[in-house]
Amino acid sequence: MSLTNVRFNKGSVWLVGAGPGDPGLLTVLAVKAIKVADIIFYDALIDNEILSLSKPNSELVYVGKRANKHSINQLEISNKLIAESKQNKRVLRLKGGDPFVFGRGGEEALALTLNNIPFRVVPGITVGIAGLAYAGIPATHRDFNTSITFISAYGAGGERPNTIDWKSFTNTSQLIVVYMGLQRIRWVCKELIIQGRNKKESIAIISNATYENQKIFITTLEYFAKKVHKEDISSPAILVIGQNVVLSPILNWFKGQKTENFQINYKQIPKEIKHA
Ligand code: SAH
Repeated sequence: MSLTNVRFNKGSVWLVGAGPGDPGLLTVLAVKAIKVADIIFYDALIDNEILSLSKPNSELVYVGKRANKHSINQLEISNKLIAESKQNKRVLRLKGGDPFVFGRGGEEALALTLNNIPFRVVPGITVGIAGLAYAGIPATHRDFNTSITFISAYGAGGERPNTIDWKSFTNTSQLIVVYMGLQRIRWVCKELIIQGRNKKESIAIISNATYENQKIFITTLEYFAKKVHKEDISSPAILVIGQNVVLSPILNWFKGQKTENFQINYKQIPKEIKHA
């Protein structure tokens, strides 16, 4: 496969990941698609600089959530994708991060395929990977973990999902990344502690990851398990739980960020790190 051979055909839909925020994290294919699309359906959290790459006569349609207003639902979005592609347009569905990671990209792809609409998926960098890198948290580090888990704190109907196997995290040191977890941080920390994860283990909250106003908050599981948090932490945010978090204050390279440690004061490389 070569980059020059890739054609965005009229009458097709591309489901494209825009990455977590920083426009520099777009893929080459995503840029190519944005430049030629006739109509772009985009979500909240898509940077204006990314949208400004579109051609002058392209149509930009916001389909993200609106505060206190009726949000367009998933079925309506899928129907719009189908209807516009039937008008022989190049239809681009632009989503934050990766379209297939907590992004309902699978549902849209199913709707398209059931309606015989040709489509392509362009992966994006998910926030659970890019956000960690921008916070100086290696997703894996040999002294700490050999696996990572991505969790959504919301089920399909908005409920607390009952399919998370909290106990499975206690016998391993795997790193846990929680999407949509800010409002449920207390529940997440309590479940982990109840099931046996060390209450002194570090948790980082990365808010506005990869944006200039990125902020990192670091503390322990027990801190958030005990109190209803009142800290001024804004959405969107991910929670990162695991020993790897201790590297963040040492490796934070991203200039736009501020780090606040609620309890922990790291001054040097922790003694458990051998592979430095
Ligand atoms: N498809 C996206 C995830 C969508 S779910 C991806 O692959 O990254 C939406 C959740 O992602 C938010 O509630 C938040 O938890 C997280 N998120 C998205 N962008 C973020 C950002 N820039 N910083 C921190 N968290 C973010």
